[in-house]
Amino acid sequence: MKTYGLLGKNISYSLSPCMHNAAFKALGIYASYKIFDTDEKGLESFFFSLKKGDIAGCNVTIPYKERALSFVGSNSSAVKTIGALNTIVREDGALKGHNTDYLGFMMALKGKRSGDLNFDPDGKNVFMFGAGGAAKAIAYVLSNVLGAKRIIIADVDTEKADGLASYIGENAARDITIAVAHDKEQYNDFIANSDLLVNATPCGLKDGDPELFDYRYVEQKHYVFDLIYSVKTPLMKRAEYQAANAIDGLNMLLYQAARAFEYWTGCEAPIDIMREALLEKMQK
Ligand code: NAP
Repeated sequence: MKTYGLLGKNISYSLSPCMHNAAFKALGIYASYKIFDTDEKGLESFFFSLKKGDIAGCNVTIPYKERALSFVGSNSSAVKTIGALNTIVREDGALKGHNTDYLGFMMALKGKRSGDLNFDPDGKNVFMFGAGGAAKAIAYVLSNVLGAKRIIIADVDTEKADGLASYIGENAARDITIAVAHDKEQYNDFIANSDLLVNATPCGLKDGDPELFDYRYVEQKHYVFDLIYSVKTPLMKRAEYQAANAIDGLNMLLYQAARAFEYWTGCEAPIDIMREALLEKMQK
């Protein structure tokens, strides 16, 4: 039996095993997907097993998406630009890094399935909260692939936001305006002039989290993409109240997993089965 899995730290909450194991079962693939909850000291031995083939392929999550780059032999061009990977594929004994987070975001953003946003950002204005790992992948796809006109970034860590803004500016394949909203007082004007609002922070996950911005400024015209999927955030509640088009991060999670599955197996991922497994697990 082949073993795949998720490398990360403190990740027992992960929903990835239920999706991948349901997909293996549905396609009759003799394989299983496990959690590899590993501290820094365990990384060498994890990658030794991966190189040897004891582990056939893996996903990588917090806090190793960047650290893992030093263990793989080559990377896709997206990984090179984003600077982080979330999927590793063994090819003839060598390890190659991929990033399926950006694909998951893109598919959920533009898709037309239930839970997709059905929004085309070409020529549109985006306000993105967060400048961490997920934000980097999103900024890459919006600026390099999907042709957004303007991206405004806001993060509690303004240095990080500045860093991401310069990074996108330097790597953008097309003309794009990038700015950082340093001051909360600037937010409302930017929001009023944005088409898409993205929450790529963990803010809203816990009761008592601060507001990202004054949610009264969400209007019906806005498209809202909140990457959080485990709870309905105050931003999502406000968007629903305003009858704005809004999605959480569930389909992004599903699509990044589906693409990783396809890289490993060469088989089309049974998306509906993976989604069902995900929803069933979340209800427990
Ligand atoms: P990350 O690397 O920690 O980045 C999050 C960033 O948001 C950090 O820079 C953080 O600043 C900032 N932040 C926190 N609270 C904020 C606030 N109130 N206003 C503005 N900025 C704030 O995390 P990540 O990996 O990018 O993940 C971000 C979120 O997306 C998490 O909730 C994660 O679960 C979710 N996610 C979902 C998917 C999916 O498939 N649906 C995929 C990836 C990530 P500090 O570091 O200073 O706190």
